[in-house]
Amino acid sequence: MSECTHNCSTCSSGCGSSEFHRDESLMEKLMPGASVKKVIAVVSGKGGVGKSMVTSLLAAETQRRGFRTAILDADLTGPSIPKAFGVSERMRAAADHMLPVTTPSGIQMVSMNLLLDAPEEPVLWRGPVIAGAVKQFWQDVVWGDLDYLIIDCPPGTGDVPLTVFQSIPIDGAVIVTSPQDLVSLIVRKAYNMAKMMDIPVLGLIENMSYAVCPDCGKKLRLFGKGSGAAAEELGLPLLAELPIDPDLAQLVDNGEFEKFTCTALEAAAKEIDKKFS
Ligand code: ADP
Repeated sequence: MSECTHNCSTCSSGCGSSEFHRDESLMEKLMPGASVKKVIAVVSGKGGVGKSMVTSLLAAETQRRGFRTAILDADLTGPSIPKAFGVSERMRAAADHMLPVTTPSGIQMVSMNLLLDAPEEPVLWRGPVIAGAVKQFWQDVVWGDLDYLIIDCPPGTGDVPLTVFQSIPIDGAVIVTSPQDLVSLIVRKAYNMAKMMDIPVLGLIENMSYAVCPDCGKKLRLFGKGSGAAAEELGLPLLAELPIDPDLAQLVDNGEFEKFTCTALEAAAKEIDKKFS
């Protein structure tokens, strides 16, 4: 068989892998009048590593740097982002469009929790229904003109992340990890999925890399060695190492997330921006 060109429309090999490639013709369109310059997907191989946290930090930093920024919370069954930003206003929806909600600093946001009457109710939907809702979050939202849309992808490599990768024209993915061998193994899965879908991986962000001792200021690497080796092996930059920060957890709980500034993330946001300019 000749080498794969990733263009299934002109290939007759019938290799069966076309289902897992990106096909520009299958990408969903934004509604008329909406434009997004760059779409970044924040992904992780598994849940609980801080993917939503990194999505929020990245969006807050990008907005702070003067870019028109939005968050598409595609983690439909575990949406935690609105609460962190203290956003409780409902999204307004009509038959064919939805209006995003705006955070205090001006970030636009769509999330399942902003549509539900009772945010504590579980979303008991099967994969294809969730995947359909994610597509609507892209194509039926009155986004206006955005510089950056940052997508909080559902964890793993299942149906919904696959839909995100196949139906939204993503310019780059950031992989969030935490410093454990098990997690770095799973990082490779996320990396390989992005590669299969022809999505450039911009780099790794390691969360919960260390805690700072409140007495002596020493960095304590609670989970052992970091993701530097995994990043090197994959040929990716380690864009940031973020500490476990009790103040951050508190601000998230209080819905005051935008008060937090993070030097490590500032550098990562600049690095990402450089890749696109
Ligand atoms: P994921 O999206 O990967 O499932 P979250 O971003 O929701 O993970 O993070 C899980 C929990 O850990 C949240 O309660 C979040 O506030 C907390 N958390 C994440 N990163 C940090 C951090 N660096 N410092 C303190 N708390 C954190």
